[in-house]
Amino acid sequence: MIFTPTPARVNAVYCVGRNYTDHARELNNPVPRSPLIFMKSPTCIVPFEGELCLPESLGRCDHEIEIAVRLGAALTGATPQEALAAVSHIGLALDLTRRDAQSVLKSRGHPWDLAKSFAGACPISPMQPVADPDSLMARSLVLTINGEVRQQGHCSEMIFSIPILLSFLSHHIPLVDGDLLLSGTPAGVGPLVDGDVLTGLLDGVAVGQAVVRR
Ligand code: ZN
Repeated sequence: MIFTPTPARVNAVYCVGRNYTDHARELNNPVPRSPLIFMKSPTCIVPFEGELCLPESLGRCDHEIEIAVRLGAALTGATPQEALAAVSHIGLALDLTRRDAQSVLKSRGHPWDLAKSFAGACPISPMQPVADPDSLMARSLVLTINGEVRQQGHCSEMIFSIPILLSFLSHHIPLVDGDLLLSGTPAGVGPLVDGDVLTGLLDGVAVGQAVVRR
């Protein structure tokens, strides 16, 4: 029943930017009025375990811990309730970001793809089945680095909830079984250095752990 994401088994990876007010503010971005959607290539998926190889040539590479959900059914023009019922699995993802590259792209008004999709840019933990969809609204996430809490958040703090995000997306893009949604990161993002040990906790339980190699 556990779903272990691999590039071959994921259709698309949808992401949302600035979905926690405190994170939007820490990067001096306005709080959005509608979801800010972007994508990562599924070929960037790696397990959230072992070593994360992030060569120095990438420049500054930031951690963004996020709750990831997997769709178990297709969705088009869905209501939030229909969207919630279609979620099959939940886990944690790292939306790794080349922050310097992203800043240059943003300043030019260009898409962020080259800052968000690179080899190893999307570590994902094994994903647990969602037995009770309503419980999705009461999940917490924490990222520790070398044993110190660096990011923490709760689904209730999201600007746009997971069912709202999926409903919104499904009105713009046909969603299918196997799509993933990364639901945004709380405050505390920052650069990774060689030897950092990252641990992701979902509801207080470690579901992913990896060491950074740069
Ligand atoms: Zn993110």
